[in-house]
Amino acid sequence: MIEIHSKLPAQDVTIFSTMSAMAQRLNAINLSQGFPDFPAPAELLQALSQATLEGNNQYAAGDGLLSLREQVAAQFEKRDQLNLDPITEITITPGATIGIFSAIQAIVHAGDEVIIFDPSYDSYAPSVQLVEATVIHIPLTTPDFSVDWNQVKAAITDKTRMIIVNTPHNPTGTIWSKQDWLNLIALIQDKNIVVLSDEVYEHLVFDGQHHYSALSFPELRERSFVIGSFGKTFHVTGWKTGYCVATPQLMKVFRQVYQFANFCGVTPIQIALANFMQQHPEHIQNLASFYQQKRDFFQLGLAQSRFKFTPSQGTYFQNVDYSDIRPDLNDVEMCQFLAEQHKIVAIPVSVFYQHAPKNLRFIRFCFAKKQETLTHACEILSQV
Ligand code: PMP
Ligand code: GLN
Repeated sequence: MIEIHSKLPAQDVTIFSTMSAMAQRLNAINLSQGFPDFPAPAELLQALSQATLEGNNQYAAGDGLLSLREQVAAQFEKRDQLNLDPITEITITPGATIGIFSAIQAIVHAGDEVIIFDPSYDSYAPSVQLVEATVIHIPLTTPDFSVDWNQVKAAITDKTRMIIVNTPHNPTGTIWSKQDWLNLIALIQDKNIVVLSDEVYEHLVFDGQHHYSALSFPELRERSFVIGSFGKTFHVTGWKTGYCVATPQLMKVFRQVYQFANFCGVTPIQIALANFMQQHPEHIQNLASFYQQKRDFFQLGLAQSRFKFTPSQGTYFQNVDYSDIRPDLNDVEMCQFLAEQHKIVAIPVSVFYQHAPKNLRFIRFCFAKKQETLTHACEILSQV
């Protein structure tokens, strides 16, 4: 008999797979897993088709297609006046997830400590556990999901090797202010701590607010990885293409690992994205207002319901409080109830915690949906 010892024995199938499968089984509206139900720009799809037909179907350069890396550099220059070297400081990865995984593998050693803020994206903690490091979970303060900096200060030890930041934040839709970053800098600038900044929703920031990238702070430049995802920006989550940015010193150790995690990204997808970004700069320019309209439309509909919420500041998620509707149900039960009784599927927020507050009554809806989907969803939600 073969003996198998799982490295993640307590790990179930991810909540996203579970809830999307539930939506399919019940033929329900899927506002759970984060993905658009509308098509990507036609020119982008054509660019992919063209790239494959023109024969670009073999391995790409391991670090990524240079013209796409140049497009990423141009975005940082425009927003943060940063002068990045696309050759030594940017790597294209097949999705943000593998970028996060590789950065952790590259930097964190067994016995180190990594601080993450709960609720946290589901891949962070398991990626840290796999290097036999300890995850230090710091809960964000409810109901506004802000950071308690005294708690962060108290959590930092000689073993702290990395802090994982996510702004705009999944699942709460909050964003870090400049002051948040300054608070972080004050706590870590004289310590040997690396920042892994997950900024996959960098272009989805609303109400004229600014997205502050970790790299825009000179004090964080030498110690930060920034992770991005073209999937969110170009409505192609299934293309699983992202990027990692860091100084040449950090990027060197990242690539030492990443080259064996995946070697390279998908060739024709990189070509299509680079061509589209070059020819359609308006796509990114218009993205925040495109999603803000969806957020506003969804909120207008929700205002007719008994769900309570603070408007999402960023991402394509809206967190809602259902305590006026079914305070007797925990959030997993509430999602089950909504799916079975009302044919609408959401994500329970407690699954993003190590220890969720007992009375947490929040669920997450994704509003990256067509107008008709949102209209239908709001009609249902206002009856709940
Ligand atoms: N980080 C966060 C916060 C996310 O929401 C997602 C979305 N799925 C990812 C990382 C992973 O992105 P990708 O699909 O490009 O791997
Ligand atoms: N990031 C997406 C979400 O939060 C899902 C990604 C996934 O399915 N792994 O819904």
